[in-house]
Amino acid sequence: MKRVAFHTLGCKVNQYETEAMEKLFEDRGYLVVNDEEFADVYVINTCTVTNLSDRKSRQFIRKSKGINEDAIIAVVGCYSQVSPKEVEELEGVDVIIGTSERNKIVELCEIAKEENRRINIVRNIKTYKEFEPINIDNIKSKSRAYIKIQDGCNQYCSYCIIPYARGPIRSRDVEEILFEAKKLARVGFKEIVLTGIHVASYGKDLTGIDLGEVIKRIALIDGIKRIRLSSVEPNLINDDFMNTLVKTNKVCDHFHLSLQSGSNTILEKMNRKYTKEEFREKVDLIRKYMPDAGITTDIIVGFPGETDKEFKETYEFANEIGFSRIHVFKYSPRKGTPAARFNNQINGKIKNQRSKELIELGDKLTDEFNSRFIGETMAVLFEEDKSTNGIYEGYTTNYIRVKSNINHELAGSIIQTRITDNEEGYLIGETRR
Ligand code: SF4
Repeated sequence: MKRVAFHTLGCKVNQYETEAMEKLFEDRGYLVVNDEEFADVYVINTCTVTNLSDRKSRQFIRKSKGINEDAIIAVVGCYSQVSPKEVEELEGVDVIIGTSERNKIVELCEIAKEENRRINIVRNIKTYKEFEPINIDNIKSKSRAYIKIQDGCNQYCSYCIIPYARGPIRSRDVEEILFEAKKLARVGFKEIVLTGIHVASYGKDLTGIDLGEVIKRIALIDGIKRIRLSSVEPNLINDDFMNTLVKTNKVCDHFHLSLQSGSNTILEKMNRKYTKEEFREKVDLIRKYMPDAGITTDIIVGFPGETDKEFKETYEFANEIGFSRIHVFKYSPRKGTPAARFNNQINGKIKNQRSKELIELGDKLTDEFNSRFIGETMAVLFEEDKSTNGIYEGYTTNYIRVKSNINHELAGSIIQTRITDNEEGYLIGETRR
């Protein structure tokens, strides 16, 4: 039996696409093995968000060749899309695919092997106008499944390479989304996470459909108990949208709203399309409809020109909003983006200091948010594959991690759990046995 190993860098969308490619190989009789093991084919699904991600992709290419020098090495994803020439120059690479046409991967690897030649099919991403159907139905965990509903982004934030790697927005046909959701419900998934590069743009390239409508239709599927949005832009939130979500009774009260900065001057330089006042209004609106909503965010510190005063504004704003979790990123110039050419790049020490302060604030806010729920009973979806010594982990609707000593048969189900304690970063719960 031929063996294939995958190494995935980057975001949830990449992970989703890796699972889809694994299935393509399995359907052709391959065994999927760990990326440290001997394999006939190594697929490196790359990321290019920072220069460091490019470096990691290159390191893994070298490492795979070291395990089996005769293996076929396929480099796929954002790095090869943005820098195909650079990838081509790397020794040992046999197949180069960008962020489209990944469904040809097995065939291309076999041709490269048989004909002993390098194949590069990366094309200009702007020429892709349609969502590329790439499905998964072979998912490791049986509690939460991801469905990719769109690709691409038209926002062009000044620090971000993604629009160049993923191209313009392409939304997936709603019937296809529903087909996949029904299939997942049939095999027992309780929670569906709608994911994509810029989920808030869903439907902008189609007529007669938007994100709210997709959610409404998924909510009608029997067996789906929860729908979660992976990440949304503040501009998507309005009364109509929130009303739609609440009426389904299935949409989780968890919103990942990327703030990036709490300073209007920095937001403008970042080419983000909102002010902090508008952001605050959206948070208020979410809380009006869903008072216990968990609001998580991403913040970049050390963006070019960010002064102490602007950082302080971000810090105070984040504190005022009371995020339930903050992912802090130190700005790193990404070649090919406007911000990489901006003056006043911030030195590493300052970035480290700001990052440290914001991480500490994030931990404090998580702790305050989580503590609110001690003594309450919350619905927790426990995951089968996350247990140590009989203690299972799961998530509440508002995305708090809960650990509890449940019966094995209950893993994969949603269980009413009484919250008894708050540990660092998660809650402890009790279920009736
Ligand atoms: S919205 Fe901005 S940060 Fe997000 S993918 Fe698009 S360009 Fe990048």
